[in-house]
Order: sequence, then structure tokens, then C-alpha cells
Amino acid sequence: MFLCAVPGCNNGARGLWVTVRARQKAGMGSRRGLWEVPVNRSLRRAVPLVVCLLALLSGCGVQMFLRVDRVDVDERLRYFLGGGGNSFAFLHDGVAFISDPKLGPGARRFRKDVEVDLGRQVQRILLTHWHGDHANGVDLYQAPVVIVHPNARKRLEEKGMRAHWVEVERELSLTLGGENVRILSMGSGHTDGDVVALFVSRKLLVTGDLVLDHYEPHIDEKSGGSLLALRDTLDQLLTLDFERVLPGHGEPMVKADVVHLREYLRAVEAQAKVALDKGLADEAAVASMSVSGFDDLKALPFATARADTFRRMVKELRAAKSP
Ligand SMILES: [Zn+2]
Repeated sequence: MFLCAVPGCNNGARGLWVTVRARQKAGMGSRRGLWEVPVNRSLRRAVPLVVCLLALLSGCGVQMFLRVDRVDVDERLRYFLGGGGNSFAFLHDGVAFISDPKLGPGARRFRKDVEVDLGRQVQRILLTHWHGDHANGVDLYQAPVVIVHPNARKRLEEKGMRAHWVEVERELSLTLGGENVRILSMGSGHTDGDVVALFVSRKLLVTGDLVLDHYEPHIDEKSGGSLLALRDTLDQLLTLDFERVLPGHGEPMVKADVVHLREYLRAVEAQAKVALDKGLADEAAVASMSVSGFDDLKALPFATARADTFRRMVKELRAAKSP
């Protein structure tokens, strides 16, 4: 049964609707749904109403989106899953380095956990890309440095966001509390402004929405995203030395999950090429395609089903073949 708990919603509102459960290690608990929410300032006030409406329409998935789960990896590192995009808080030298500070109530809960409960001022924020469910919470912080890809900065500034930007076109290497953290732009995919973070000694890769926890890949074409670019970017990411993954949404993963996603894209590409070689029109090509061994990759509600991935691959391959 779904119980909408957004403030102001009459569908069984429960007041405080963000639940934070501290857990002892990564990988516990159930997976949650994903909504890509590129929300700008003018829409922010409407977010609770929109979310509640989606909740009524879609059932428990939105409830999962609303919840924030805290995972205490160790003394220095915490994950905050859900409430928007996944985030980390890395505590060092009396301050905090965080990623993707969520939106709306999830963002406020995240900030409270880090700055009030943990007592760490946020000094740096990494934005893996520009989408509002990852980036809108930046406004809650006092003058932090915001690390971002130039294309993401451009879109955020168009939406009115101002910050002390540090742009990453290729790589930014940080030493924080004696640990090396590499911020890398290794190619497009989800958007044309995606960056990742590699915690070198921890062998931890923070991917943003380039990688999702057992969902179909989600491509934002209007923001320069591309399935073929994602394929190439995953190849690049897999050259890095990592074992653990914090994806853009869902539960923590391992490197084998990223390999699995790349294999899925290869399988889809191979099927699309066969269909195009037969001279099939787009929809006939999509109807002719099938892949096996990837049933664990679920459709994104309101966003991307398997046929959408097939359709996008056909379209991109056809465009790539055109003179
Ligand atoms: Zn996104």
C-alpha cells in the first residue's frame, strides 16, 4: 500500500516524510525507484505538489524517492541514498566535502545531517551533473566551492544558480585529509556535462547518473546525453582502478555491475546493427530486437523502458551512419 507523506497531501500525510536510517555498511536494504527531476528555482515551490501527484499515480516508487537512507561506511565517509540523487559526505580536517546535495526536503535533511548533526561545515561540493535532483541543494550552503563540468555550470547559471565554481574539463586532483580524490571528466553519456569522483585508496567510484543501480541507462538528449557516448565513457571508467561504486540512484554497487551495464549496451548495439543492416525502419528495427541476460535492468518509471533504449540506439546508429 502506498502512503503519500508529502506535507500538505491528504493521502495519509505523516508530517516528517524523510526517514534517515543509519546503516552500518553499504549494500543493505531494498532498491528504490528513480525520477529524474531537473527542477529550476521557479518550480521549486511546486515540487511537493508535483511529487504527491506522481505518488498518487505511481505507487511506492515515489515514496522510495522521497526517503533518505544514511549509510555510515566508516568514520570519514557516509553515503546519503535517495531524497534526490545519491550523495556522499567525506569528513576531513574539521570540514566536509559532499556531492550532489539533492533537492527540496531531501536536501535540507542532508544539510542538517552534515552541518548540524555531524557539525561539519561544507567546504566543497561536487556536482556530477546539472540535474535538479542532484544540484538544487547547493543553494542551502554558505559560499562553498562547487566543482562541476563547464557544460553543467552553463546550464546551472542559465537557471540562476551562482556559486564559487571550479570547472573540471579533464581532471582535478584533491588531497583531503591525506586521501587522494580524483575528479574526472571521462566523457559524456547521461548528459554532456558528467563528472565522476575516484577515491583512490578506497577504490570507490562515484558515478552520478552515468550508472544507475540496476536500471535501464537514462539519457538526457536535450542536455547532450547519448547512448553511444555512454558506451565509450563506460569503457573509459572501467580502465580506472576501483571496486566499489556509488551510483546516481539506488544502492551501492560493485565494478562487475558496471561491466554488466557495458555488456548490455554492447548487446543492444549489436542487435540494432543487425536490424539496420536488414534495412528495417526504426519501429520495425526496435520490434525485431531482443537481448537476454539483462532482466535485472529495470525500466525507469516515467523515463526509460527497454524499448526506449532500443529506439535510442537505433536512432543514434542511424544518425552515425548518415553522411
Ligand atoms: Zn540526472
